[in-house]
Amino acid sequence: MSAAKRPYWLPEGCPPWCLRVPEHSNDDHPDDRTHAGEDASVTLTAADPLDLDGEAEEMRLYLLQHYREREPLIWLGRNETNQGGHLTLDEAEELAGELRRLVKIARDE
Ligand SMILES: [Zn+2]
Repeated sequence: MSAAKRPYWLPEGCPPWCLRVPEHSNDDHPDDRTHAGEDASVTLTAADPLDLDGEAEEMRLYLLQHYREREPLIWLGRNETNQGGHLTLDEAEELAGELRRLVKIARDE
């Protein structure tokens, strides 16, 4: 997006990973001035369903950053609910490392 077309509240533009570049606008509510990036999901075959709607249970992850925050966070949560939490990038790396460590132990690697 060229500087002329950027919302006034976003003078420096989006981080390179933001997928909302064309959606940001001057009239976005301040709470909604959030960059959002790649998402991913993992189907949870062993999890009890949160509700019995027949949909597969998923762990969902995506990058987000409010325009006034200094770095992105990663949302990690169940399905489309608010059951989950935000991780800093350092916390996400730590979590990934701990997951790898536990998988190796479980597989006796
Ligand atoms: Zn953005």
